[in-house]
Amino acid sequence: MAQKRDYYEVLGVSRDASSEEIKKAFRKLAFQYHPDRNRDDGAEAKFKEVNEAYEVLSDADKRAAYDRFGHAGADNLFGRGFEGFDFGGFGDIFEAFFGGTSTTTRQAPRHGNDLRYNITLSFEEAALGCEKEIEIKRTEICSTCSGTGSRAGTQPNKCPSCDGTGQVRRVQRSLFGQFIQSAVCSECRGEGVIITDPCHDCKGSGFQKQKRRIAVTVPAGVDDGNGIKLRGEGDAGSRRGSPGNLYVMISVEKHRYFVRDGDDIIYDLPVNFAEAALGTEVEVPTLYGKSKLKVPAGSQNDKIFRLKDKGITHLHGSGRGDQLVRLQVITPESLNKEQRKLFEELARSLGPTRRIDADS
Ligand SMILES: [Zn+2]
Ligand SMILES: [Zn+2]
Repeated sequence: MAQKRDYYEVLGVSRDASSEEIKKAFRKLAFQYHPDRNRDDGAEAKFKEVNEAYEVLSDADKRAAYDRFGHAGADNLFGRGFEGFDFGGFGDIFEAFFGGTSTTTRQAPRHGNDLRYNITLSFEEAALGCEKEIEIKRTEICSTCSGTGSRAGTQPNKCPSCDGTGQVRRVQRSLFGQFIQSAVCSECRGEGVIITDPCHDCKGSGFQKQKRRIAVTVPAGVDDGNGIKLRGEGDAGSRRGSPGNLYVMISVEKHRYFVRDGDDIIYDLPVNFAEAALGTEVEVPTLYGKSKLKVPAGSQNDKIFRLKDKGITHLHGSGRGDQLVRLQVITPESLNKEQRKLFEELARSLGPTRRIDADS
């Protein structure tokens, strides 16, 4: 075996470096030499060396033994050395067969789950926008152990079954020869470590279910079926993966007399024969208060009056739609004596209605 470099030298820290300094130095170097990132000759060897140094210096007992006895002391403490961090031959074989590296699977960060919450708004809330507070239940990183899963002051142990790799290798023989297959270690479920003294609050999972109240700003103009994406408000990711998103899905209640048509609002205005014939002035409800509307004499059924900018705010862009007031000429269903007489007089005066005849 080649002469080993001093572990402190490998990490570039002083002999009295704090555990925090050691951790920082290790992270920087591991990042720099990680074989997935750094394809330079020798990077892999450096990465192994850095891991080995950190494995010893991050553990108080191992560090003390190393300080007293040097490499011999440290090696004795764990006997088998550092095969667990061997990114050499095995990775190459794996790549040759499967076109990918097996070493990334264990440490790969996992994105948290997206969450969905259904919310029902009134017609006005959707049209005008509103603030809503919702309560969701989501998975968060355990605040007690900061997600390590270990009780405060303790460290997880390297998994003995896979020696910390999270993978077990099996040699398989087939028609095409012998090849190596890797599987996730069942002992540590691919984590590479086993928590011996679990955090009380999360039972070692590193996660906790939390109820959270979240303020949702609903922009004016949303419609039934729209969703609002709240980035990062979903479940926490694992292995420093980013959290998922929260999708607030919107349903809008029907209004008593407004009907939405895009960003326009349709409102049916009932008037009787006399009002339609003689004309009238009425007050029409809008989202923004009452509006005066002049119905001119001789207005027909279904005639539409447009109240500019009294509709719904455009969700994308500025301005609003209109309110369309649709005239509904109502036929009286029952007449008293006097009304009947007046209608009969009117009928005589108007004469029969001229229609386009099929024969003419
Ligand atoms: Zn915990
Ligand atoms: Zn394992």
